[in-house]
Amino acid sequence: MNLEKLEKIFESEKPFRLKQAKQAIFRDLIEVWDEATTLPLVLREQLKKEVPLSIEAEISTSADGKTSKALICLEDKEELEAVLMRHDGRNTVCVSSQVGCPLGCVFCATGQMGFIRDLTAGEIVAQVLFWARWLKKNPPSHSEGEARPLRLVEGEARRISRSFPPRLALLVDARPGAIAQDDKKEKQNDKNSVNVNRVNNVVFMGMGEPFLNYDNVFEAIKILNDDNLLGIGARHISISTVGIIEGIERMALDMPQINLAISLHAPDDALRQKLMPIDKKYPLEAIIAVAKDYVAKTNRKLMFEYIMIRGVNDSQEQARQLVNLLDDRLFFVNLIAYNPTGGLAPLQNLQNNHDEAKESKKDFAMGLEPSLPAQIKKFKDILEKSGIQALQRYRFGQDVRGACGQLASSRKVAKVMNGDN
Ligand code: SF4
Repeated sequence: MNLEKLEKIFESEKPFRLKQAKQAIFRDLIEVWDEATTLPLVLREQLKKEVPLSIEAEISTSADGKTSKALICLEDKEELEAVLMRHDGRNTVCVSSQVGCPLGCVFCATGQMGFIRDLTAGEIVAQVLFWARWLKKNPPSHSEGEARPLRLVEGEARRISRSFPPRLALLVDARPGAIAQDDKKEKQNDKNSVNVNRVNNVVFMGMGEPFLNYDNVFEAIKILNDDNLLGIGARHISISTVGIIEGIERMALDMPQINLAISLHAPDDALRQKLMPIDKKYPLEAIIAVAKDYVAKTNRKLMFEYIMIRGVNDSQEQARQLVNLLDDRLFFVNLIAYNPTGGLAPLQNLQNNHDEAKESKKDFAMGLEPSLPAQIKKFKDILEKSGIQALQRYRFGQDVRGACGQLASSRKVAKVMNGDN
């Protein structure tokens, strides 16, 4: 949705008209302008032509019906992914912030596709809007929203037998920044969070690095959080970053109530640089320093994500290194077994500007595997015995190719290989 165009059209109207239009879109979830009956007919006709409300998407659904992914087609024909997870009567939407990603983490499918462009605030919000509309039309019939197989109403339905990437599963309960303080609005939102017909949580864990597109992500969050629009409580919105320091600093000031998660994945820089080339620019020492500063400023808990990769980052010695690193009482760690389908596409699929990622991938040419459950348990025990809160999340939606760009990137790779772009 083109919010800039929408606002431009309303520049010549009385100010309350724009408010009416936004409420119709985001609160009433209209899908065609004819439904916006508070607006004059002439204006509606203009809006129909210039700011169409339709969102073109193709949906894939997991066999258990709890996880569904929309591959959304943008105006310029680029594609992005937005995932809906239904769990314990709550609906969490995972959104993308960029088409592709420039950071080239070796375990991530989006990292293999390279960077295409930033998403606008309207394109970010449209992902939540898509699922909000869908939930309105598809209320669960079971009490308390127990998930049932999703009926597909927009686009072509397809089941895809691939595993879900790890990153999304980290935030299925979407409350990483558990609360040091509380307030009235959040209590209201907690009431809303059991409303099975609406989006309760939003996590920025899809394609892209949110802090490389800070301004648009911030604008989108304002719309998501606005009580008169989508009305999703700040503490039900989470951002996951690789540790872009400037973004964390800005977030502590601009939106301290939003949950923050930082992807760590290694307890030392040498290994982290191989997994995540961005570590060269933002090494662990700097990340931990800014994380402590964030906690001191916000008094919020901060989650570190740690994907467990067999024989790479899961030894007991590495657990002890991690303990030494995370010495703040508000830090906690979320462990998850690596999902083999998350990344490591063949080297030739990397774009030419991904030299660093190519170098890193040579170290893992034999491929990555998830840690064994016993190894994860030992790792977790060491953290917990040292006083660090550690959670172990399980993969969610095992048979749909999930976020981190798996679907869009596979198409992109196919296009590249077919010489279509
Ligand atoms: S994990 Fe995140 S930052 Fe790394 S390549 Fe994937 S989308 Fe980009």
